[in-house]
This record gives sequence, C-alpha cells and structure tokens, in this order.
Amino acid sequence: MTVTFWGVRGSIPTPGYETSRYGGNTLCVEIGLHGCGRTLIIDAGSGIRRLGDDLLSRPAKTDGLALDLLLSHTHLDHILGLPFFGPLYRRDTRLTLYGPASSPGESLEQVIGGQLSYRYFPVRQVELAAQVAYVDLREGVYDLGDGICLSATYLNHPLLCMGYRIDWRGRSVCTAFDTEPFRNLFITEPENPDYDEMMALEGEKAAQEANWRMRSFFREADLLIHDGQYTDQEYRSGRSGWGHSSVEQAIAAAESSGCRRLALVHHDPMRTDADLDDLTRQYGGVRLESGLHVCFAREGLAIAL
Ligand SMILES: [Zn+2]
Ligand SMILES: [Zn+2]
Repeated sequence: MTVTFWGVRGSIPTPGYETSRYGGNTLCVEIGLHGCGRTLIIDAGSGIRRLGDDLLSRPAKTDGLALDLLLSHTHLDHILGLPFFGPLYRRDTRLTLYGPASSPGESLEQVIGGQLSYRYFPVRQVELAAQVAYVDLREGVYDLGDGICLSATYLNHPLLCMGYRIDWRGRSVCTAFDTEPFRNLFITEPENPDYDEMMALEGEKAAQEANWRMRSFFREADLLIHDGQYTDQEYRSGRSGWGHSSVEQAIAAAESSGCRRLALVHHDPMRTDADLDDLTRQYGGVRLESGLHVCFAREGLAIAL
C-alpha cells in the first residue's frame, strides 16, 4: 500500500513562492494498492488535477482506469478540483464516487451536479465521458472487493463529514481531514443562570463517548492522516467549534489510538513553508514515549505501508 499526497492544504489553494515546498493545492490523497492494482483517492481538492494527469501518463490497462473516489464531504476545498480531473473526460474510465449524503432529500450525485452546471463551469455533469457511479455512504463497514475493507464514520465538522479507514492485507490507513474533538455542547458553568446539572453531565458523557468511538475507529492504524490546521494556542483563541483540530489534538488522538504514523494535513492557508518547517522542528519526528512518527505532509510525499 502506498499513500501519496497530491494536495495537503485546507480551505483554499495557496499558490505562491511562500508555499512552493509544502504545496498550495487543497486536499487529495492517493492510496495505491499494488497487489490488486486498485487506486483509491480521498477527496478532490485542487491536488486531484495533477493526480489525474499522472494517472493518464502511467502505462495504460487495455480496459482503461477503474477508480474509487471517496469524498470526506462536499465543502468547496474538497471538491473544487473534480471538474479538472482528466480521467473524467475519457470514455474508458470507470469512476465510483462515494460520500456522505449531507443534505436531506439531496443525493451525492445532485450535490456534485450542482458544481458541474453552466453557472459555475462550462462542462455539465451529463457531458462527462467517464462512466460515473455514485454511492451515498452512511456510517458503517463496506466491502470494496479485492479484500479491501472500507469503514466510514461521522467526524465533528459543521457539515456532515466522513472519516475513512481502509484495511487491506494487514495494513490500515485512516483519514480525518476536517474534524475537531467532540465536546460538551451544554452550559457547564454552574454560575450561569441557564445551567442544568443533568444536561451538563449528559453532554459530557456524550462527548466522551464520541471521542472514545473515534479512538476505536483509528485503533492501531499504520497511518493516520489527520486535520492539524491550528496550534493549541490558535485553537483556544476563538477557533473552537470551527470543525478543525490543533496539532496537539491530532497527536493526542493518534497516540491514544496506538497509531504508528501521523501525517498532518489541512494546513491553514496562512501557513508558509517557513511556518511548517518551524512546526516540523517542534512536533515532527518520533515521539519518545509512544514511538509515534509525526510529519507535516507535503505535496509529493509518498509513504509505503
Ligand atoms: Zn476543508
Ligand atoms: Zn470542511
């Protein structure tokens, strides 16, 4: 299994000389399963454009490309590259597109079609040459064939957002691109006139259970790819509830789940290469107590598992 990063940025592409080493493309990760010749792609941020070109330049199979594209959610930074994904314009491409159905009464196909309309892009959904099948995902475990087991769980984000786990031949990779730890949503200060002790305790219990469920989802993964948009200091100064984690929270999630490697992604658009180098010096490398290997992902990074 090889995991290759084609886009690591969150929120908006950030091209420019200050981001040229880590890359300015928004999220797109390729998971190559060499033994069975399958390619899984997580998210269609702007990084998917170069992945598409690369896929088309590889030695071709006689019957074209068969690809599985899993969308974490349909926020723009995770789908904006899709109309520029070259294999979509080839008749011999078979693409299965999975994702959570986030709007009631609207399928994934309809949500994606919203982007592929003349209002936003000159090519419409019905004009794509590839054979595209849409699969609306809910939480659960799915058999993708060839021994590939896909697990999906809901993360903590303002829009329904999926975390994925792929298990294949004894190797595992988990993704949690846009998420933050679950927290108590009820009033917890007894001095507040609206404080309700029962509600506060229930809220605490629900948050703890949800975080425990996340740890069991990431359990002993060979690689966890996790949102690390902020530092703890940034998170605490008004960014809690925005649906993104701090680096420290991501490390805590990986360590408490017994993961072997952690690749941080969804880098804040404000982060320059120099900032990411500083963070790497501060948090990167092997952690003494847990043995967890931490890195800040950059475009072109490939991790063999
Ligand atoms: Zn995002
Ligand atoms: Zn998002």
